[in-house]
Amino acid sequence: MRLNVRWRSGNSAYLILALLMPACAAIGLVLAWTSLGLEFDNYAYDFLFRSEPAAPWQPSSIILAIDERTLAKYGFPAGIRSALADGLNRIQAARPAVVAVDTILSDPGDEGPSAKLEEAFAHTHNLVLSADLLPDGSGWEEPIPRFRKYAVEVGQVHAALDTYDAISRELPLEKIAGRRRLWALSLAAYRTAHGAEIMESPDDLTVASVRIPSSIRDEAHQRHDRLLGDERLMRIRFAPKGLIPSISVAELDRDPALAAKFAGKVVFAGVTAQNTVRDRWMTPASSIAMAGVEIHANAFETIARHMFLVDASPVAVLAFCLALVSGAGLIYVFLPGRAANVAALLLVGASQAVPAVAFARSVVWPWLPGTLSAGLALATAASWRHLLVRRALVRAGEEKNRYQHAMQFVTHEMRTPLTAIQGSSEMISRYGAMPEAKRKQMAELINSESKRLARMIETFLSVERLSAGEMEMKQERFPLAALVERCTERARPFADRKQIEIEISALPPDDLTGDRELMEYAVYNLLTNAVKYSPSNTRVKVFGEDDRGDRVRLSIEDQGIGMDKKEVSRIFEKFYRTKRAEQSGEAGTGIGLSIVEQIVTQHGGAIHVESEPGKGSRFTLVLKRAL
Ligand code: ADP
Repeated sequence: MRLNVRWRSGNSAYLILALLMPACAAIGLVLAWTSLGLEFDNYAYDFLFRSEPAAPWQPSSIILAIDERTLAKYGFPAGIRSALADGLNRIQAARPAVVAVDTILSDPGDEGPSAKLEEAFAHTHNLVLSADLLPDGSGWEEPIPRFRKYAVEVGQVHAALDTYDAISRELPLEKIAGRRRLWALSLAAYRTAHGAEIMESPDDLTVASVRIPSSIRDEAHQRHDRLLGDERLMRIRFAPKGLIPSISVAELDRDPALAAKFAGKVVFAGVTAQNTVRDRWMTPASSIAMAGVEIHANAFETIARHMFLVDASPVAVLAFCLALVSGAGLIYVFLPGRAANVAALLLVGASQAVPAVAFARSVVWPWLPGTLSAGLALATAASWRHLLVRRALVRAGEEKNRYQHAMQFVTHEMRTPLTAIQGSSEMISRYGAMPEAKRKQMAELINSESKRLARMIETFLSVERLSAGEMEMKQERFPLAALVERCTERARPFADRKQIEIEISALPPDDLTGDRELMEYAVYNLLTNAVKYSPSNTRVKVFGEDDRGDRVRLSIEDQGIGMDKKEVSRIFEKFYRTKRAEQSGEAGTGIGLSIVEQIVTQHGGAIHVESEPGKGSRFTLVLKRAL
């Protein structure tokens, strides 16, 4: 029985845990999708970016920088075109593979420097110029024709900054404005270097057999009437600091031999001076803003080195979160104290390790869903266990109290037959000349009282043995109706004393199999309880019901004191008695029903109780029919 009770209350506790755990995963996923959550994930991404820098490589790009010194020499902003022209003229002899110019040349400017730049462009092989999005997104700020005519292509240099923290992590490989689509400057430079076409599919772009995973983010691609669309974002894998060489025009002026470094390289030319605020952005890799031209060079290296960072599949992330919360639940269901804490730490470790390991494999695994799922689930499961243990402690305390009460009652009850036995046996031995009839009466009294004692002891032992599963059950076949009638006969004397009528109807003709004696004990107990907990001049009904299937039902219904829901849920606990029962003045131990339930369940049956305080109770046995 003890086991049964625990299973009964534990069952709902486990169900609650089983519902709470996926709820933790759901909360984790939903929170991770809020703007705050996404921001946290960005920071985790930046952290991984810095803690797992890519191994250095031989860069194929180089920056021709218009830096502070250059501007100091040429003047700002008027000197930019002259500086650029000088720089391009100096590196021409080294024959760079491509020259991508990240300067917007959309205005005529002063004639002198513009003519100089035009002249330099005319001698530049594979020139790629750039266009930026107009502030309202309605079109492009493009190079004027005198420059445009020398360019093999125009690339766009719009920076895709994060909506939340304005950090440049991704680059739109394509952009549509004013019904015109432009490829990113870096991509345009790459395809020019390889003389290749760009092949498009909804999930990727392919250039010179390099597949760039970058899906179309919205339907804008199909609907060219849209002005603006952040399509095909590619994460930039920023190179370690200083990996991409940068040589300024001022340096070239001072040491023309430096031009050799540009040989065969893809050159990104642009302004890097810090005081030109217009084109500098924060990146995950640097603590100071990075010049746009450097960002394009980094994006180019990402493509050239195939260092693409792809998103983890949402299904995998979901599965991971579910695995974490299941783990948290299992830990607190199965592992004892310290082991559970160690396992919980390991689980937290796993939630942190997976994003890091994935990043090392170029997969961007969102950090927050797993972290939140694991954290919430562990906290919930630990609290669940704490409550369960506390409840068990309270219950154990209550059981102990009840046990002590029952022991007092039992010892008290035992005293009565013992006193009778003692008195009678003393009388017999003391008065030798006792009349025969009197002696016989005393001997009978001793006999019946010791039998009563034996029965009492037997009952208590049965509970323990049944609980421990040591009681052997006989397997015999017997008719239910006869069993009920015998119990009724035995209970009738008690019922008569309270003028309670026992009414039997519709007993099923079926046989049962099992231990007849135990089953009789169960039915007899229910009957005597019905009588015990009913006022005088009421009626107890015993009736059967065919359950059609392989089961029969036997109900015992009284018009007694009844019980409320909470009490009903506890009456099968050992030693439990309701307040109303205590106050009724009827003696009891609170053991009977625990034995009844044990017997019934061991016979593969079940017991149901319906009751209402002051109205009465109905106990229904659902029993297996013998085949
Ligand atoms: P006991 O009758 O010795 O107290 P039981 O285990 O048979 O112990 O019953 C446990 C408790 O369930 C009773 O003390 C009583 O509070 C309640 N109970 C059992 N049967 C009835 C009934 N027919 N009507 C009202 N209460 C009942």
